[in-house]
Amino acid sequence: MFFHVVTTTECNLQCRYCFGETMDDFDEDFGDFELDYNLPKKAAYDVAYLDRFCRKDPDCVFTFYGGEPLLNADFMREVMDHVKAKHFMVQTNGQFLDRLEPKYVNRFHTILVSIDGNEELTDFYRGKGTFRKVMNNVNSIMQNGFRGELIARVTVMEQTDIYRQVMWLLTNPEFPFPSVHWQLNAGFWGNDYKRRTFKQWSTQNYMPGVERLAHFWVDQMEQTGRVLRLYPILGIAHSLLSGEKQSLMRCGGGWINYAVQTDGYIIPCPTMWGMKKYYLGNIADADPLKLGKVFVEDKPCTQCDLLGVCGGRCLYANVTKRWSDEAYDEVCETVRGLVKSVEIQVPRIRLLIQAGKVQASDFEYMKYNGCEIIP
Ligand code: SF4
Ligand code: SF4
Repeated sequence: MFFHVVTTTECNLQCRYCFGETMDDFDEDFGDFELDYNLPKKAAYDVAYLDRFCRKDPDCVFTFYGGEPLLNADFMREVMDHVKAKHFMVQTNGQFLDRLEPKYVNRFHTILVSIDGNEELTDFYRGKGTFRKVMNNVNSIMQNGFRGELIARVTVMEQTDIYRQVMWLLTNPEFPFPSVHWQLNAGFWGNDYKRRTFKQWSTQNYMPGVERLAHFWVDQMEQTGRVLRLYPILGIAHSLLSGEKQSLMRCGGGWINYAVQTDGYIIPCPTMWGMKKYYLGNIADADPLKLGKVFVEDKPCTQCDLLGVCGGRCLYANVTKRWSDEAYDEVCETVRGLVKSVEIQVPRIRLLIQAGKVQASDFEYMKYNGCEIIP
C-alpha cells in the first residue's frame, strides 16, 4: 500500500492555481460535506503509531506530502529514522531540498519536484525566484549522490503551451529532467471555470500539443532506443500494450494509495483532508491492508467507454463535482484526446518491440508513485 504522509498543512509559496484559487473560491459553497477545519498544522501523532501501522504491511510505501512537506523536515527525519517502510518518496516544491541532509535525500526512492516548465512560466505560476531555487537544488542533490527517480511534476492550465514546456523540461541544457508528469488544474475549484478559457485552450493548444509529444516520444525510441518517462503517455501506452484494464483510479486514490492527515486519520487522497465523510480509520488502530475502499460509483464515469483506461481520472473531482457537467465533459475530452494520441502510436511501438529496438519491459514503471497518469 502507498500512503501520502502529510507532514504539515502549511506552504511557503502562494501559487496561482492553489493559493490563488483558494482566495477566489472563498465564498464558494462546498456542498454537503462536513469539514474539519481544526486539523493540526503539523503532524501531531506519535511516530511509533506510524511505525506500528506500517509494520502490518511489508510493502508499505510512504510519500511525504504537504502543504510543503519540508517545512516539517524534523518530522521527516524522525519518520525515516524510526519507521520501517519499504520505500520513502517525497512530493515537494523543491525550495528547501537543500535543508535535508544527503543521508536522507539519498534514501528517497523517488522525488517529485514541482516545476511548470521554463523560468518565465514557473515563476509566473509559482512566484518569482521559485524556478532558480528548484534548478539549484536539483543540481545539488544529484551532485550529492541522489540516484533515485527525479520527476518534474508540472501543473498545467491556460498559460501553458504543453508541447513547448515539456520539451523544455526534457531537453534544457542546465538540467534535462529524466521523468516528467503533468496534471491539469481542472475540476478542483468551485468558480474558476467561468473566469477561464479552458475549452479554447484545451482544444487549440493542449490536445494538439499532447499529440505532438506522443509522436516525439516514439521518434525518440526510433532514434535512440530510449523510452522517455513521460508519465501520462507512458502509463497509457503500458495499458494499451499489455491489454490491462483499469477501472479503478489510476492514481490509486481510495483503494491502494491513501493519505495520513496530521491528526493520524486516513483519507483516500490528500486533497480530501478534513472531509469527515471519507475518514477511513486512524493509524493508531487501523490495518493498512483492511482499509475501506472508495470508488467512483456515478455517472458519467460508470457509463463511459474510456473507464477501462481512464479509471475515472480523479476521485476528489468526482465526489465533489465542483465543475458543471458541461465543463467536466471538456476535461473528459482531454482524456479522450490523450488516449487517442497514444493509440495512434501503438503500431509504431509494436514494430519497435518486434525489432528489438525497445523492450516491453521499458514501459513498466512503479505504479502509484504520485503520477496520476490521467492528468
Ligand atoms: S473520461 Fe471522464 S467520464 Fe470517462 S472515465 Fe474518465 S473521468 Fe470518467
Ligand atoms: S487524481 Fe485526484 S484522487 Fe487521485 S491523487 Fe490526484 S487529486 Fe487525489
